[in-house]
Amino acid sequence: MDEFVKAHYKLQVDEAVKALQEHGFDARFFETRDEAVSFIMAQAAECKTVGVGGTKTVRALGIVDLLDAAGKTVYDNWKLKPGTPEELQCRKAQMTTDLFLSSANAVTVTGEIVNKEASGNRTNSMTFGPQHVIIVVGRNKIVPDIAAALDRIERVAAPVRAMGMGRKTPCVKTGVCMDCDSPDRICRITTILHRNPLFTKISVVILDEDLGY
Ligand code: SF4
Repeated sequence: MDEFVKAHYKLQVDEAVKALQEHGFDARFFETRDEAVSFIMAQAAECKTVGVGGTKTVRALGIVDLLDAAGKTVYDNWKLKPGTPEELQCRKAQMTTDLFLSSANAVTVTGEIVNKEASGNRTNSMTFGPQHVIIVVGRNKIVPDIAAALDRIERVAAPVRAMGMGRKTPCVKTGVCMDCDSPDRICRITTILHRNPLFTKISVVILDEDLGY
């Protein structure tokens, strides 16, 4: 059965890769984690500084430890206490790194990258500043179009993230977005990358497994 699940996903992924490439993104599909990690580490080889945005996916691949071991200066704000001067400085530093690593909330079969977030360091760094951005996503984040991407964020990504952050938002109780006015609201910025931004190379690494939320 697994082979048919893989084959079904692959049809969607192939379409997404093609559309992303047509939109100027360097989109790639990897069947194994090892291949994806090798690609990312090869891209990091000449970099001195690497920023890591809010992403479980990149961390699940063990990339942060590999970058540390390779002697890179890694700006990882998840290692610092939120809201402290050091943590805010780390978020700012991400925006001028040689390489920025992140995930995305959704990637569309029609070739767009969609995100919602609270502070903006991740979405800012994705669009201007770092020389190269690598967005790593599991195949489960591929959706048909922008409407489906926003739906995925409201039904899955944002409520799960709010739960993980211990937020007191209505979605933590209902499991779906209630477009809240809570001071704990995490959905404060929405970005859609329609085409590769002018001065930033963006690679999209799609993995053949369900990863992240
Ligand atoms: S807007 Fe509020 S309710 Fe909706 S997903 Fe975001 S935090 Fe949850």
